[in-house]
Amino acid sequence: MRPEDAFAHRGVARAPLPRRSLRLWSVRHAAFLAGTYRAFERVLRGMDPVFRRIGYDRLEQPVAAVERTVKQALFDCRMCGQCVLSATGLSCPMNCPKGLRNGPCGGVRANGHCEVHPDMPCVWVQAFAGAQRMDAVAALGQVQTPVDHRRAGKSSWLEAAKHHAAS
Ligand code: SF4
Repeated sequence: MRPEDAFAHRGVARAPLPRRSLRLWSVRHAAFLAGTYRAFERVLRGMDPVFRRIGYDRLEQPVAAVERTVKQALFDCRMCGQCVLSATGLSCPMNCPKGLRNGPCGGVRANGHCEVHPDMPCVWVQAFAGAQRMDAVAALGQVQTPVDHRRAGKSSWLEAAKHHAAS
């Protein structure tokens, strides 16, 4: 069995190279993208009354489709439905072949690459670099809860709008 097949049952497939390079670009520009995202989040929060009127359930499918397109392009997003990009330097942890959401395993290579995919930079090494650019290294210490697979494919944007409006 090839090492990259060991985690195939988790559905975490390795992204093709061109998309991966855009993911690395996003981490390199984490400060700019994070600022843009924060502005977008404020808009989302403000849209809550409109979203409620239309109905969050009715919006789920079209918004998730847009979110998937944008975030797959920029972050190789796997649509886990519980986005933690703001706490991981804009490096999506779902691209870790072991699915680790709370830091790297012990197998990071000396060159900062993944032990499962030797040609891939470790998503957590990238997370640290992105968090430094965002001046948000402390956020890496937040403990992330296990992934709730019932939310797979659902929009994190709508969830954020709903959550912030309720809080
Ligand atoms: S944490 Fe989840 S929602 Fe956020 S980019 Fe990664 S897969 Fe997508």
